[in-house]
Amino acid sequence: MALKWDLAVIGSGIVGLSSAYHIMETNPGLKVVIIDKARTFAQGNTGKSAAGFRDLFSSDINYKLSSSSIAFYRHIQNDLGVNLGMHTSGYLYLLDNETASSNLFDSVIKRSKSRFVTRDGLAVFDSLNFNPDKDAAEIMNLKPVDQGFLGENCGIIEPDLIAGFYYNNLIKMGVKFMFDTTVNQIMLSPTNPLNYPGEPFIWQDLQVKSLNTDKGEIEAERYLVAADVWTTNLLDRTGIDSHIRPKKRQVFQISGGPIQKLVRSPIIKGERIMPFLVLPSHEVYMRPVPQNNSIWVGVADNYNRDFSFSEDPQPEPDFYQNNIYPVLDAYIKDFDSARVTASWAGYYSYNTIDLSPYVFGELNLIVSTGTSGSGILKGDAIGRVVAARFNGSESADLYGGEKLKPSTMGIRKRVIDREEFIL
Ligand SMILES: Cc1cc2nc3c(=O)[nH]c(=O)nc-3n(C[C@H](O)[C@H](O)[C@H](O)COP(=O)(O)OP(=O)(O)OC[C@H]3O[C@@H](n4cnc5c(N)ncnc54)[C@H](O)[C@@H]3O)c2cc1C
Repeated sequence: MALKWDLAVIGSGIVGLSSAYHIMETNPGLKVVIIDKARTFAQGNTGKSAAGFRDLFSSDINYKLSSSSIAFYRHIQNDLGVNLGMHTSGYLYLLDNETASSNLFDSVIKRSKSRFVTRDGLAVFDSLNFNPDKDAAEIMNLKPVDQGFLGENCGIIEPDLIAGFYYNNLIKMGVKFMFDTTVNQIMLSPTNPLNYPGEPFIWQDLQVKSLNTDKGEIEAERYLVAADVWTTNLLDRTGIDSHIRPKKRQVFQISGGPIQKLVRSPIIKGERIMPFLVLPSHEVYMRPVPQNNSIWVGVADNYNRDFSFSEDPQPEPDFYQNNIYPVLDAYIKDFDSARVTASWAGYYSYNTIDLSPYVFGELNLIVSTGTSGSGILKGDAIGRVVAARFNGSESADLYGGEKLKPSTMGIRKRVIDREEFIL
């Protein structure tokens, strides 16, 4: 007879890995299998991430999830000595005076280590153009750079290294991985089957009986779907709503010319690299890549970026050339002599209502999705919430001592303010 697992997890991205890790920590000896269609872990959106981290959020829950995860990642790197490529080099929003004076920053500045930076303080960026050319500013709706807002407990991290930390520990804990294995369908069946034609009937109690995969049937007592944007595909046939919508997101790596100097322009004392930088207009961001002195640029475009989904999304060179580059070039002169040396595309799984992650339960299934573009920086804490739900605990113990009721991130008793700190 086939082995029956205590828990089968679909997805070995940061959410699946961190969830399994925290479940195993609280339930040593549990028989857990993690299934992924990719050849190894972290090949989905986790591997495509720009992996900036910040604790600058307007909603209480996002602050808790991010600050706990950041503190845990720092603990892994500093206390356990596992390199995560974590640099607390800051997260800097360049702002015009009007945006800077809005009340958006009030709650953020109270609880996060953050401050406004004057124009003089921004002089570290040699090539920054504070006032884009008048014509360009008019045509492209560009705001001036009057000041900055700096998150000091923020920076960059390497998602494959965090994923590797969880993976290595899960192997030691006895968790089994099945890579190159695609889950075709989540199979529901009656809890007490009558073996009668036409089952299941509406009056029967249901459960997830097994996962139908291309490597055979996998049976477990309980299941976790940690499949990010693929969650909808997996859940649709069960009649359970994923509550998410996918949006394609692209990253363009820019190298050469004076980019190296920009990468090596720190604003945080003691750091050697530039902060994760967000321009004052159109949310164009720049993420330093210290390993090869390049910069990743991207943008979370909204209108006209539809919700279509493809298995292998491709970056669009024209999108960089016609949309991102003109904005970059108006603010930072270094980009005219640099070039695109790599590019890729993935998806954000958006919770379109409050832009915060879901952890909810249906039958003997837990679903964790809707990371809305910040699943790396919240990944550890999401795993703790999943573990609390798995264990039936009243609250999840976040790293650093905060507590979080798992039901607040669910569907029925959800208590989350819409995230407003999106610049
Ligand atoms: C371009 C881009 C930039 C980003 N920038 C940031 C950032 O700066 N900071 C930040 O915190 N976050 C960022 N994110 C978001 C972050 O990467 C995601 O929130 C996070 O990786 C989601 O992790 P996950 O484990 O839920 O999903 P994934 O990593 O996508 O994992 C899901 C896994 O499920 C597997 N799977 C799916 N369907 C099946 C199936 N049927 N059978 C078997 N396996 C299956 C997939 O192969 C995949 O490995 C970015 C994302 C993108 C795309």
